[in-house]
Order: sequence, then structure tokens, then C-alpha cells
Amino acid sequence: MQEKVKYLIVGQGLTGTWLSYFLLKQGITFKIVNDANTGSATSVASGVINPVTGRRIVQTWMIDTLLPFAIAAYKAFQQDENIPIIKDAPIALIHPSLQMKESFDYRLTHDNIYLKENDHSSLAQYFNAPFGNGEIEQCYWIDLMQFLKIGRQKISAHFIEDYFDVAAMTITEHGVAWKNISAEKIIFCDGLNTMNNPYFKSLPFVPNKGEALIVKIKGLAPTNIYKTNITIVPWKDDLFWVGSSYEWSFSDALPSQGFKDKMIAALNAVLKLPYEVIDHLVGIRPANTERRPFVGLHPNYPQMGICNGMGTKGCSLAPYFAKQLLDHIENGTKIEPEADIKRFTSILST
Ligand SMILES: Cc1cc2nc3c(=O)[nH]c(=O)nc-3n(C[C@H](O)[C@H](O)[C@H](O)COP(=O)(O)OP(=O)(O)OC[C@H]3O[C@@H](n4cnc5c(N)ncnc54)[C@H](O)[C@@H]3O)c2cc1C
Repeated sequence: MQEKVKYLIVGQGLTGTWLSYFLLKQGITFKIVNDANTGSATSVASGVINPVTGRRIVQTWMIDTLLPFAIAAYKAFQQDENIPIIKDAPIALIHPSLQMKESFDYRLTHDNIYLKENDHSSLAQYFNAPFGNGEIEQCYWIDLMQFLKIGRQKISAHFIEDYFDVAAMTITEHGVAWKNISAEKIIFCDGLNTMNNPYFKSLPFVPNKGEALIVKIKGLAPTNIYKTNITIVPWKDDLFWVGSSYEWSFSDALPSQGFKDKMIAALNAVLKLPYEVIDHLVGIRPANTERRPFVGLHPNYPQMGICNGMGTKGCSLAPYFAKQLLDHIENGTKIEPEADIKRFTSILST
């Protein structure tokens, strides 16, 4: 017998979890299907929300809007749980070069909201910092392992562990049908898997490989994120996430010895504490040429939508754009033009 729901979501990474959470809150019927054997960027990400980026330390796209929304959303998400999902984690900067110190000093006095002078002299016992320190404020760490786990618990009654094969989906007059489910809308939140989806594969995805090490560092305070030419993020207990790489050209999705050697060399240069490498993670970011999300309904098949393309910033983008897509479908509100897939109407229509 067919089970009727309003929404079928494909993928329970950051994006699918947020979309299903908002549906749950609004009492709208849905099912979410996720296959643990397909790649998930969320499960290897460090979970950092950093409002500035790049060598020039400029503010990230839309951060003044995204940040307050994300903080409120993660706080509301964790409200019923005893486990915190979002933590304040100012970034202690250990300038990796004179050029980066000068860049920081310049930005401190030009359009600055998030940078702060802080000599972090207490860190001298842990780090070599020949070019000095600084700080980025209003940074947050999202415990993505707990977020996915608790998210799954919240939606357990709606969750299906299965591989979604687009070829097994039927487009119906009023929506789509897949296995025993019929839905008015299907929303693809399946990260890079969308590149295999005949309806959305022409979107300009550019996969970006990222690797990280999980390292045990006894004695390093888990109060900060530490950033030099590598980023060291408190993970749990005395474990830290150390990374990462941003590779636009790669031949496989495997952990590489080259990356591991590079991180070890960087740790040896900056860290005064002994450490032990525990694990080596790898994931592929659902990035794209424009560095903007892909959000909206298919121009020819309005029963199909997408919330994807979160690139390197899923923690701050996913809650905001999952909500925007839902509001668009339910209430007809506008999607941010730079994120709306309307900009690809011509290539999606062919
Ligand atoms: C090394 C690394 C570090 C990162 N660090 C950060 C960071 O600090 N801060 C930040 O904001 N972002 C970070 N990112 C980026 C972030 O991980 C992504 O932006 C975000 O996780 C994307 O979430 P998503 O839900 O869109 O995709 P995904 O997390 O990839 O989720 C897609 C889901 O769909 C499922 N799926 C796919 N195909 C199918 C199918 N056919 N059937 C069923 N299920 C399917 C997958 O199993 C997966 O669960 C990092 C990424 C990497 C790789």
C-alpha cells in the first residue's frame, strides 16, 4: 500500500537534517531516505563557523544574516537535549607568516567586525608563534557527530535507511512515487550524489576533496579553535581535528600519505606538545564554480527541488537555506537570488 507524504527528502547530511527538522517543527508529513554507504561530507567536516575567510581575512558571503540565524537554529535544535551541539569557540590565530600578520593588522582597522587583538601569550607554552597572535570572535563549533545522531533520533519515525535510485522514481501527476511512498515534493539534499541525477546533473558542481587527521594532544585547552597554516579544532576529550586540504583536482577519494606528511610537518613546526595521530578522514565537499548554494524547484518539474551546493560552509548555509526553500514552497516567499536555481533555468530546461 502507498504511503502518502508531502515531502520525500533524499540525504541526511547537514542539509537534509535541517530540512527534516523544520518539517517536523511545522507538523508537515515527510519521509527521509539516507544510505550510510554513500559519501557524506558532513561526517568528516570540522564543524567550524568562521565569519571571515581567505588571505585578506574578509567577511564571508551573507554572514551578517547567516550567523544569527544559524546560532538561533542550532540553539533551538539542542534545546531538548542534554548534549550541547553548538559551542562558542573563538579562533586563536597563530600568524603563519609576516604577510598574514600584516593582513590581519590591516583588517583590524578596515571594515572590521570580527577580528580582535589578543596576544594569547598564555599559548606560548603550546605553540611557536614567531609572527604573533590575533583572534577571530563570534566563531562557533558545531558538534556534527552529535548533530547527525540527534537529528536522526528526532526524525526516526520518518527515516528510511536505503539507497535512493533516481531511476526507480516515477513522476506522477501530483508529485513523485518511489517504492511504497508517494510524495507531493521530492527534495534532493544528497550532496555530490546529485551529480548523477539526470534532472540536476547540469548544475555546475565542482567536487572538492578535503582530508583531515584526528590527533590526540594531551594538555591543549579545548576552549579555542587554533588556526595557523593548519586548523586545529577541539573534537572530543583530548582529541583534535587537524586539517585540511582543498583539492580541486584529484584522482580518488582516498586518504593520502602526502596530506598526512604535510600535516605532521606543520604540527611539528608549530606545536610544542607531544601528539599522536589517531585517524585520517577524507570527504568530498559539494562545491561549485560560483561558491553559492543551489536552492529551489526544478523549472520543468516543480515536484522536484534541491538544497545543495553548500561547499565549504555547510554549517552556516544549510539551516538558512533549508528554511528558505521550505518557506518558498509553503508560503511562496522568495529565495535569495544568488542561491536560487532559477539562475540555471536555461541549462536545467534542456
Ligand atoms: C574535510 C572537510 C572539512 C569541512 N569543514 C567544514 C567546516 O568546518 N565548516 C563548514 O561549514 N563546512 C565544512 N565542510 C563542508 C561541509 O561538510 C559541507 O558543506 C556539508 O557537510 C554539506 O552537507 P550536505 O548535507 O549538503 O551534504 P552531505 O553531508 O554530503 O550529505 C549528503 C547525504 O546524502 C546521502 N546520500 C547521497 N546519495 C544518496 C542516495 N542516492 N541515497 C540515499 N542517501 C544518499 C549521503 O549518505 C549523505 O548522508 C567540510 C567538508 C570537508 C570535506
